[in-house]
Amino acid sequence: MGDSISSARRALMLRLAAGATLLPLAALQGRRAEAATQPLLSENDPAAKAQAYVEDASRAKGATPGALCSNCSIYGGADGAPQGSCTLFPGKDVKAGGWCKAWSGL
Ligand code: SF4
Repeated sequence: MGDSISSARRALMLRLAAGATLLPLAALQGRRAEAATQPLLSENDPAAKAQAYVEDASRAKGATPGALCSNCSIYGGADGAPQGSCTLFPGKDVKAGGWCKAWSGL
């Protein structure tokens, strides 16, 4: 009887350990899906031109120093990714180092 309890306990511990291992993997899968890239927004896109979007913030006229897409409140890119989504331009990615006049650091 002691062996069956010990065996059941061991099986439970193995299941818990497996679950603890798989949960972080599931979280990573979700992040990977979030980080999926979309076509890059072109500076020549009329919507981009309307917002004075540039792929390189150092070329931006009138930008707050240090303002980048990557630190804009509506940027959706992952940390360190070269590009990411922007709710202003659905279906397109913007460069992390880009900028437009709708930039908001809030
Ligand atoms: Fe970049 Fe923000 Fe402009 Fe979107 S709204 S293009 S993230 S600066």
